[in-house]
Amino acid sequence: MVQAVVALGGNLGDVARTFRLARTLTERHEQVQSVEAAGLYRSTAMGAAAGAEFCNSAWLVETSLEPLDLLNLLQQIENELGRTRDVHWGPRMLDLDLIFYGEEKIASQRLTVPHPHCWYRRFVLTPIENLLPDFRHPVLELSIRELCERLQSTPFRLALGSASEKVQPLECVVSEFPGIETTNVTSPQDFDLADVSLAVWFGESDAVALHPLWLAAPIANAEQFLRDTLTAACTELSSVSKTL
Ligand code: ATP
Ligand code: CA
Ligand code: CA
Repeated sequence: MVQAVVALGGNLGDVARTFRLARTLTERHEQVQSVEAAGLYRSTAMGAAAGAEFCNSAWLVETSLEPLDLLNLLQQIENELGRTRDVHWGPRMLDLDLIFYGEEKIASQRLTVPHPHCWYRRFVLTPIENLLPDFRHPVLELSIRELCERLQSTPFRLALGSASEKVQPLECVVSEFPGIETTNVTSPQDFDLADVSLAVWFGESDAVALHPLWLAAPIANAEQFLRDTLTAACTELSSVSKTL
């Protein structure tokens, strides 16, 4: 039996009801022992195409399903409950992401675990903190609580790094978010990540052998990438209800 963590999101229809139905369908699988649900939270939608506010939650799933079979089950439930995949990051009834599968690290074409974006998204971390504050991220080796604390610190300490001149100035994006203190970095190896809320490296990341706490970002569309990332990292969640 493995303990898996699933993140839930949705912003179309009666999301709390969809979450409850999804849980019932998940529990119905004979290789799923139990599903413990976090409370229900509300967060700002990410990305220009996302639409209305999102609702989020998380599950702790005890299962004997292999990782890909668990992903298949989650995708089947998304489809059953009306998910359509037309706009990337678009409005949706239900998004079920597999965040952790025990301590396993998986990098296959269909599945990356731990979920590569979980550690800087407050709408993913906060519901998980509700269930498992002391669980350690197997790659970053920080607990869920520590990952949340990084993003909640005041001021929010943002490190922006790049070895290239091609990155456009990003101050105007940062100024859209109150309370951010920015440090510019050109040599990531000499930079101490200990007190940083979030570090984003623009451009070729293989060449500089980045520590995993650097978020690798594309130079093309740098502004939109940073805006979406800061929305996910800085926006506070409100608790809607303690139970689902
Ligand atoms: P994001 O990954 O930024 O949260 P998303 O949830 O909107 O984006 P989807 O369109 O739901 O992305 O999924 C795209 C693909 O991601 C899926 O078809 C799936 O194969 C793949 N995928 C890789 N790793 C995971 C994971 N840990 N959990 C869920 N899907 C994953
Ligand atoms: Ca997602
Ligand atoms: Ca998804």
